[in-house]
Amino acid sequence: MNLVLMGPPGAGKGTQGEILSKRLDINTISTGVMLRTAIKEQSEIGKIAEKYINDGKLVPDDVIVSIVKERLQKPDCAKGFILDGFPRTTAQAEALTESGVKIDKVLSLEVADEAIIERLSSRRECSKCGAPCNIISNKPETEGICDKCKGELIQRADDVPETIKNRLNVYHEQTEPIKAYYEKLGLLVTAKGEDKLEDTTSNVAKALGLEV
Ligand code: AMP
Repeated sequence: MNLVLMGPPGAGKGTQGEILSKRLDINTISTGVMLRTAIKEQSEIGKIAEKYINDGKLVPDDVIVSIVKERLQKPDCAKGFILDGFPRTTAQAEALTESGVKIDKVLSLEVADEAIIERLSSRRECSKCGAPCNIISNKPETEGICDKCKGELIQRADDVPETIKNRLNVYHEQTEPIKAYYEKLGLLVTAKGEDKLEDTTSNVAKALGLEV
């Protein structure tokens, strides 16, 4: 299955992406993780992306489209993929369609803004593998340590109140309109993101027509 996961920051795209990736045995491609890795490595793209990310703004379309197009050419994507965090603008969605990559479904995780602000302050991410967790709702087995790779859990630089507000505004203004784009193409399904992880997981399975 070629799947796009969308939803506001902190809706649970990363966590649901991980769960679906195991279940469907396909890789998750997270543009956020790719950009944060590029920043860590201080690559050319990392240097361009850093300022935008720390301000809660979107990285320019041409930069992100070229990274994703290149990634989707890799052999592991032939059996399917989950795109987490891309497309985020109508121009990116159009570029993806024009690239000839077939998308089977677009799943939008729906969570109210008030819940997002609360969630993001307790969100943590592995400094090594990028896996997400939450110190309240999706606790790691050992405090401060990633369950998956034993890397150190850190708080993202853009999970601070002022940046969170910017990111939510950007989501409503620039990303939400692509729901209409995919609805027109008959690809959009929605699932409510709940407080309890297992409830969201079951909503997601139902929306995708998988066994709950
Ligand atoms: P995420 O981890 O998906 O929340 O992404 C973190 C940040 O990376 C976003 O706030 C943007 O600054 C940048 N970013 C990730 N994906 C994209 C995209 N598709 N288009 C533009 N910027 C992006």
